[in-house]
Amino acid sequence: MTYETQPKASHFIGGEYVEDTNGAPIDVIYPATGEVVARVHSATPAIIERAVKAARGAQAEWEAMSGTERGRILRRASDIIRERNHELSVLETYDTGKPYQETSVADATSGADALEYFGGLAGALTGEHIQLPGGDFVYTRREALGVCVGIGAWNYPTQIACWKGAPAMACGNTMIFKPSETTPLCALKVAEILVEAGAPAGVYNVVQGYGDVGAALVTHDDVDKVSLTGSVPTGRKVYAAAAEGMKHVTMELGGKSPMIVFDDADVDAAVSGAILGNFYSTGQVCSNGTRVFVQKGIKEAFLARLSERLENAVIGDPMDPETSFGPMVSENQLNIVMGYIAKGQEEGATLSYGGARIEGDGYYLQPTVFSDVTDDMTIAREEIFGPVMAVLDFEGEAEVLARANDTEFGLAAGVFTQDITRAHRVVAGFEAGTCFINSYNDAPVEAPFGGSKASGVGRENSKAAIEHYSELKTVYVRMSPIEAPF
Ligand code: NDP
Repeated sequence: MTYETQPKASHFIGGEYVEDTNGAPIDVIYPATGEVVARVHSATPAIIERAVKAARGAQAEWEAMSGTERGRILRRASDIIRERNHELSVLETYDTGKPYQETSVADATSGADALEYFGGLAGALTGEHIQLPGGDFVYTRREALGVCVGIGAWNYPTQIACWKGAPAMACGNTMIFKPSETTPLCALKVAEILVEAGAPAGVYNVVQGYGDVGAALVTHDDVDKVSLTGSVPTGRKVYAAAAEGMKHVTMELGGKSPMIVFDDADVDAAVSGAILGNFYSTGQVCSNGTRVFVQKGIKEAFLARLSERLENAVIGDPMDPETSFGPMVSENQLNIVMGYIAKGQEEGATLSYGGARIEGDGYYLQPTVFSDVTDDMTIAREEIFGPVMAVLDFEGEAEVLARANDTEFGLAAGVFTQDITRAHRVVAGFEAGTCFINSYNDAPVEAPFGGSKASGVGRENSKAAIEHYSELKTVYVRMSPIEAPF
């Protein structure tokens, strides 16, 4: 291994790397080879306490700075991330196994976008002035929530660390971020860069650990807000634990999103959308359109073109810039997905493409397509979180919309059609937080991102995120003598 993957220490607290080897060891495995490339330790109760104290200690001073000053630091961090995009992308590839072709354009860069965007907004955050009869008025102060906890999934470790940190810090909060134990390396770099950019010690802290560390943070009395990116079952637990302390929450959870392809769609565009929405990041994307409803008239053409295009996937060494499809993040995730593939076959779906593990030490799986899938099959109902596309047939618009919405999830949904009125009508009918017309999985920082139904609470990115990281204090000002009945 020619690249330095071992961090200086496991945690980043109060502006510096901190180690405590009493915590359980966590080996970081490079998914392309199965090699251990780093080892960190889970946070002990002493580390958790130290992180909460550091974040609390830094918060008032951070909030007291002008928004412009805070924003300048975030924007400087964004610049440093862009300058170091290559090394950060290589690290992200070691952490996740995602191809460098992707990580170099979609991970550190997306984190930098968030820091730049919220850095720009920080100086513009205000309350409002409301005039009342008799010259009285109300003004509102937009205030920080305090100490925020961010808990991340393993598919986008740098992006999630920044998507949560940037709006939190812009609003004057401090943050403790716990990455998934599968991908602990990238968030440490974000913390290091923020300090280099001028963030005071304690503003952004990182602690490692399994779910128990996340749970300890969520239930800590001195934590004011929790933002989780993870699965629905974890979301339910974290939401309930946060409710006990009446804490603010943002929940970015899983999905089983529909993509509808009408028979007037441009076949190649629809196939591109289906590839992006099922195989990017080896299918490990929360908003993926994994239920692809294809109208009967276009089905054969769609499946034929899809198989042709999948032949062009370059599967191999994720560090090779030509590679466009990498391994699964872990052996565990690979086995979960293989289990779903077996279930699809058992339940009678047609395996149209792929379906097999690729021999070798890495956790590689072929891109997989099932056709003739029906709504009741397990692969059409449960989130797989891997490169498995389910193609379902449909005949009419009303029928397909009802079937698309027949799920507990509501993260995303897409439609491919040339008929503009149908496109907007279908999107209006979707029960989903993030929708696409003739596109799939775009997530610009300027646009709100989040789920409906079981897929989440709150929104990340855009001005909408500000509402989830600040609260309003209302101040009533009387201009005439106050009167009372007695
Ligand atoms: P998990 O739900 O297993 O874990 C998410 C995070 O929560 C991890 O850091 C995990 O730690 C932690 N955690 C687990 N249990 C608890 C607990 N009781 N209290 C506090 N924290 C806890 O998700 P995965 O990491 O497996 O990620 C995949 C899931 O994330 C998928 O469902 C996917 O759809 C969703 N996701 C959603 C996104 C969105 O924006 N909507 C984006 C990306 C992914 P540990 O890993 O150590 O167990």
